[in-house]
Amino acid sequence: MCGIAGIYSHKPVAAELYDSIIHLQHRGQDAAGIMTYDDRMHKEKGMGLAKEVFNKTNMELLTGNIGISHNRYPTHGGFSHGEVQPFWTSVPYGIALAHNGNLTNYQELAEEITNKDSRYLNTNSDSEVLLHYFADLLHTNNPPEDSEEFFYLLCSAVTKIFKHVKGAYSVVSLVIGKGLVVFRDPQGIRPLVKGERSNGNGGKDYIFASENTMFYALGYEPKGTVLPGELIYVDEAGNVFNKRLVKKSFNPCIFEYVYFARPDATLNDVSVYRSRLRMGQNLSEAWKKKYPKKTPDIVIPAPSTANTAALSFAHELGVRYSEGLYKNTFIGRTFIMPGQDERKKSVKYKLVPQELEIRDKKVLILDDSIVRGNTSREIVRMLKDFGAKEVYFAVACPPVKSPCFYGVDMPTKEELIAGNMNENEIENYLDVDALLYQKIDDLVEAVTRKGDHHIDTPCMACLDGNYIANDIDDDKIAQMEAMRVNDRNGK
Ligand code: SF4
Repeated sequence: MCGIAGIYSHKPVAAELYDSIIHLQHRGQDAAGIMTYDDRMHKEKGMGLAKEVFNKTNMELLTGNIGISHNRYPTHGGFSHGEVQPFWTSVPYGIALAHNGNLTNYQELAEEITNKDSRYLNTNSDSEVLLHYFADLLHTNNPPEDSEEFFYLLCSAVTKIFKHVKGAYSVVSLVIGKGLVVFRDPQGIRPLVKGERSNGNGGKDYIFASENTMFYALGYEPKGTVLPGELIYVDEAGNVFNKRLVKKSFNPCIFEYVYFARPDATLNDVSVYRSRLRMGQNLSEAWKKKYPKKTPDIVIPAPSTANTAALSFAHELGVRYSEGLYKNTFIGRTFIMPGQDERKKSVKYKLVPQELEIRDKKVLILDDSIVRGNTSREIVRMLKDFGAKEVYFAVACPPVKSPCFYGVDMPTKEELIAGNMNENEIENYLDVDALLYQKIDDLVEAVTRKGDHHIDTPCMACLDGNYIANDIDDDKIAQMEAMRVNDRNGK
């Protein structure tokens, strides 16, 4: 997962791009970067949190009213400084690009770019491949003079990308002398929202971002979602050109609603917070049916993504919601940290049980999802150590059985607990007195029940094994998993 933003403004954009990274920090804590342009391209990027990468001195060098930013959470490529986005190339024009997603035909594209197009790739990043592919398609002997002609060229280039580049990609890009370019893959797997703001002179400023979490702070009005298969171009004068180049089914990632997105975000015209409340409602109905005699004394969320679903779950069940696990927010989310050892170590530093809330009670833990199962097992053990009479476990997401190849850094199938155990086995492994997973239909219903959205079927490949872009078979799984393991090992 990553966070991206692109801004066209009537005033310098660097500070607003920095704020965008801060408001998207939950989507990637590994690295951050900003590129802007005026008569030249300006870039600053580095490893770590935004506040560690940027300072007054380097921010002052990021001049210009058009720019893009990126929060990195690696799903492909290594962990070095060279992999940090945005990437840029000087031919043609000077183009910079930041991308959220994962290209599933990365290797084929990389070979084509290096062998056929004689371009040099400096990293293993699929975003660098996408940049060069895009740049090559914009390279012509008769560069367009005006914005309309350039938009036609963009339409032709991005249509070819949509045809040949497989997987998930939401993209913000800047082209020197031309403006800001934004596009989203034909199935809209990764999110991309848009907003507008009056510039006080009768014109408008525009923002495009993975989530609308920074819109209020920066004064932008939400204007819905960039559609799947849509290209948007804002030229230097602020004229906006847009076209939906390809129409396929709209299959946005369901895991954004379960775990990744900030609860105050609205993605694909669906409120993340409301969808989580509905997940809790649906799960409590299922709990009452399956376990009519197992009513907990309290419901404790595994903090903090599960808080919202736990709130409505407890409300529907008529039992007390308790923050019986305190989370130290200064320690990063375990799912995001690379490396099993770090993950194992961090759980008990991250979560502190409150004994008064737990001792002699029947405790139901509600978690957003179970990925490897280690964290869940440790939580159960903690509760028992602190005197819980019985421990139940409810999960807002169905079993995660298959790896994601569309931009979420999930473990390999072998490491996914539900990829290898059935629900009874998981119940025994966690050592709980009852376990309930959300059903897939109930999760889809929770996400799509309300909102003026156009979602056909959300992507749920990690839950049902149906890789929605029709680009993954067993060989591809083996190839992608091997690349992922190599990336983790720094090869
Ligand atoms: Fe999201 Fe899962 Fe689809 Fe990946 S496979 S895009 S995590 S729903």
